[in-house]
Amino acid sequence: MSNSRVLIIYTGGTIGMNRNPLTGALEPFDFEHLISHVPEIRQFDTEISSCCFNPPIDSSDVTPDHWIRLVEIIAAHYDEFDGFVVLHGTDTMAYTASALSYLLENLGKPVICTGSQLPVGQLRTDGRENLVTSVEIAAAKDAKGRAMVPEVGIYFNGRLLRGNRTTKQSAEEFNAFESFNYPHLADAGVNIVYHRDRMLRPDLERGLQPHFKMDPRVVIFSLFPGVNETLIRHILSNPQLKAIVMRTFGSGNAPRSPWLQEVLLEAADSGKVVVNISQCLQGQVEMGRYDTGFQLQEARVICGYDSTVESAVTKLMYLMGRYDDPDMVRKGMTLNLRGEITLCE
Ligand code: ASP
Repeated sequence: MSNSRVLIIYTGGTIGMNRNPLTGALEPFDFEHLISHVPEIRQFDTEISSCCFNPPIDSSDVTPDHWIRLVEIIAAHYDEFDGFVVLHGTDTMAYTASALSYLLENLGKPVICTGSQLPVGQLRTDGRENLVTSVEIAAAKDAKGRAMVPEVGIYFNGRLLRGNRTTKQSAEEFNAFESFNYPHLADAGVNIVYHRDRMLRPDLERGLQPHFKMDPRVVIFSLFPGVNETLIRHILSNPQLKAIVMRTFGSGNAPRSPWLQEVLLEAADSGKVVVNISQCLQGQVEMGRYDTGFQLQEARVICGYDSTVESAVTKLMYLMGRYDDPDMVRKGMTLNLRGEITLCE
């Protein structure tokens, strides 16, 4: 690796946290403190620059405004750097990585999100390896000088995953993330093995098309046996609401209660977009497979395929930020925009 320039954007998260001596709780600390625990980063033949959120935040406090700020930073420095590393708390990292994948259209350079389960100041930290390898991936180019990873990824515990395919799976293990419906983009052992056949292929002639708007008027609604009509009616009929990610059973099934179909149809008729995502971590929504799924199709519910919840909700925010017409949003949801869903041929 040589002659590359990488920008590290520190947003906060456990990786840079310190224990508050009064409360005993972990709280965000500044970037200089963080980097002082990873001096080996300076050994790379890569020029590293940094910028920080001030103050750094716990990722539970992340909002769409923070995603826009990240896009502004990346777009403003896009030509100066070969890759970007976003240091971020693990709790909402999959949402941020998904949001960035939509907002950074036709991305031709790596944007690698990483963090850690233990602060870098702790002896058994996973933060050092995550940070060092993320920088190496962000700097990596092929023999023709093209980025090895021209997309938004999450690097954690030896695996590089597509950002909008990833879910946080553990609050305990170092193996905090998995992309259940898409194979790893790279595996880091003794060598970093890049699976380039699995990566996106941006149009390098066209360049980056950044977007700076998201509309967050969406809810995630999970079905369960005994789901109550009055409560669901109350939420879904709210005129402020524009879209619903509905988490259904198995391959996209819902109770056959006539009221549910009626409420969903009313929502669709009033311009709301309802997307069907499975509560299962692995597999596809197939609304035609069972009668309990077929009825949703009749209520104008859109198929979310094998999308993660994080990806579906941020994709809706992105599409609603771009289009006022709900039919354009519905259409966008059925397209594979950034490798986020698997469409059967
Ligand atoms: N609460 C922390 C955060 O998401 C957890 C972490 O970084 O692992 O900011």
